[in-house]
Amino acid sequence: MQNAPIQSILTSPITLDIKRLDLIDPFISGNKFFKLKYNLSYAKEKQYQGVISFGGAYSNHIHALSYACRYYQLECLAIIRGDELSHQPLNSTLTDVARNGTQIKFISREQYRQRHHPDFLAQLQQAYPNYYIIPEGGSNELAIQGCQEIISTADLANYDWICCAVGTGSTLAGIIQKTAHSHTQVLGFSALKDHYLSEQIRLFINDNRLQHWQMNYDYCCGGYAKTTPELIQFIHHFEQNYHIPIEPIYTGKMLYGIFDLIQNDFFTANSRILAIHTGGLQAKMSLM
Ligand SMILES: *Cc1c(COP(=O)(O)O)cnc(C)c1O
Repeated sequence: MQNAPIQSILTSPITLDIKRLDLIDPFISGNKFFKLKYNLSYAKEKQYQGVISFGGAYSNHIHALSYACRYYQLECLAIIRGDELSHQPLNSTLTDVARNGTQIKFISREQYRQRHHPDFLAQLQQAYPNYYIIPEGGSNELAIQGCQEIISTADLANYDWICCAVGTGSTLAGIIQKTAHSHTQVLGFSALKDHYLSEQIRLFINDNRLQHWQMNYDYCCGGYAKTTPELIQFIHHFEQNYHIPIEPIYTGKMLYGIFDLIQNDFFTANSRILAIHTGGLQAKMSLM
């Protein structure tokens, strides 16, 4: 198992450390490494010919998946949202994806909305019988199992809070399961405006007795992939002060939130916080 380095950000009165999942693999970055590991070993074990998954044109998941499939010698089909993109040159994310041998198929936004629908998935499976279908963001049971490994036993002893950015919620679900029955609290920062995420996470963890976690929606800056001048300014300051690259969709918003909550005394004195850097730097140049 890969061990991510932990770096100190603040030491007093609040301790804030950051776990650098962005450094565990040069290509399969961040939390996607953990989300994919059991999915791809499953696909290999079941002798699938390839995998199929879904994402937007800048998807960190599709980017990581294309590298992972090349590594595991699995074929890969990436279904990308937006058929208007098929007439344009590939962006930097999809250029890497294509270079890894992944086949790219653009579909309309309307069709893309069907991506979780059983009929749509059944048709897709029929067209590609030897392919293993992984949902958008890689988010399924095996992903949640892999994401438990983001947190070590030592982390449970060393921290009062673990903070993580949330997209689909499966990474947070893994962290919640790993911290169950410890004293450590979990705080998720939504990258989306939609408040249904808490419900989705409850479904993922499938244990209503677990109460040691909460979601914060106050720092999504207007919604997924949206930014504010304050967020961008925060990211520049953070990178200058701590020499850690962050992007504005996930880790940037989480850290923006953590610093603001510290300022507003959300955390009690002497709290020890571990923030998870979930990677995703591949698309940063296109985003800010
Ligand atoms: C995908 C991603 C997330 C969100 O993970 P979920 O499991 O979908 O919640 C967070 N940070 C980065 C950098 C990501 O690429």
